[in-house]
Order: sequence, then C-alpha cells, then structure tokens
Amino acid sequence: MKNAKPKYAGKFSRKDLPPSIPYYQSQGITLKGTGAWRDAICPFHPDTKPSLRVNIEKGAYRCMVCGARGGDVLAFHQHKHGLNFVEACKQLGAWVVQ
Ligand SMILES: [Zn+2]
Repeated sequence: MKNAKPKYAGKFSRKDLPPSIPYYQSQGITLKGTGAWRDAICPFHPDTKPSLRVNIEKGAYRCMVCGARGGDVLAFHQHKHGLNFVEACKQLGAWVVQ
C-alpha cells in the first residue's frame, strides 16, 4: 500500500532520555561510590551485596553476578519492566510523535 501508516508514528529521541542518576533513583536503585561507575543492588537477581555496576555518564549497567547488562537507561527500563523499545521510549518521554 502506498500510503500505509508506519507501524509506529514517531521516533526515538535520545536527547530526551532522563539523566542517569535521577532515573536510577526513580527506579529504587541506590547508587553508591564515586566516579563514572557506581555500585548498586542488582534488581535482576536476589542480590545481597552491590553486584550491579552503573555508568552514570552513559546510563549503562552491568551485573557481575547474573550478567544483566545494557548500554543506557532505555535498555534498563525495557529489561526491568519487560517493555519493547517503543513502549520504553514512550514511558521515558523519549518518543517524539511526528
Ligand atoms: Zn544481577
């Protein structure tokens, strides 16, 4: 069809992703330490000591125990809430409707 609507009318806007520190705080993740990589309790496995490493510059995360990992807060949001890419973008206010 020539004028078929795209499946998702809009696009991802990376600049509208929330900053890492307030985002992770809003998810109940307490970041500890200083520097680019902070420590936190991993929400993806029953964690008792801070096994999750969070990069506050990129929003990336990596768990040293269960292997959960992603490159930004969007990946974290998808993972934690079981959302697809577009749903996660919309929840984080990073979806621009055209
Ligand atoms: Zn983990």
